[in-house]
Amino acid sequence: MTQRKDELAANLAGVEERIAAACAAAGRPREAVTLIVVTKTYPASDVRLLAELGVRHVAENRDQDAAPKAAECADLPLTWHFVGQLQTNKVRSVLGYAGFVHSVDRARLVTALSREAVRAGRETGCLLQVALDADAGGRGERGGVAPAGIGELAGLVAEAPGLRLDGLMTVAPLSGEYAGRRQAAFERLMDLSTDLRRARPAATMVSAGMTADLEQAVAAGATHVRVGTAVLGVRPRLG
Ligand SMILES: *Cc1c(COP(=O)(O)O)cnc(C)c1O
Repeated sequence: MTQRKDELAANLAGVEERIAAACAAAGRPREAVTLIVVTKTYPASDVRLLAELGVRHVAENRDQDAAPKAAECADLPLTWHFVGQLQTNKVRSVLGYAGFVHSVDRARLVTALSREAVRAGRETGCLLQVALDADAGGRGERGGVAPAGIGELAGLVAEAPGLRLDGLMTVAPLSGEYAGRRQAAFERLMDLSTDLRRARPAATMVSAGMTADLEQAVAAGATHVRVGTAVLGVRPRLG
């Protein structure tokens, strides 16, 4: 094995241990949580090594980096998740590789995603990004729909041809009432997910938790954790 592969294998084992311990502590089966490795700022060669090490889900947050990387890795058995703020003019490119978009947060984006999904002839999994720090009706600083807007946006996705409403996503807020209260933030997301599933039972994905807070997310009930740093290392400042 190469040195980088050894390093990634050791990091993955550490993350696996953390997820398994968090599941055990929460009384949840290990299979209830899927690891998505966030490969942003790291090269396609790392994505290839991760695939060799058994990773099946990877995520990116900037189309200009992700598109060429995904193209280089098109032969690998990977599902790509898009987790960054998404401009409508990037939608066509993103749907060229991403099976899931975790950052759906406004009606205009739903329209653009639907149009391109239909054009490409493939169904796209959509998660609504929830801004727990947004005031009623507004959007969060880093994107995301306010909790009060989830029902209406979910309806638009559910009705949109080519799109599948899969669940909710959040990033623990740095400001507002949930600043420094990650566990409470993730529990709030779970409550919102429970509400959503009353009307949309198939929307079962709960995407929450990163390197710093995956334990709290798993404790709250996250089904998908998005981990970058703990697997690939500390990123250079950009991204
Ligand atoms: C970068 C990123 C992650 C991973 O963050 P780490 O702290 O490196 O684990 C997760 N989710 C989103 C939306 C990200 O942009």
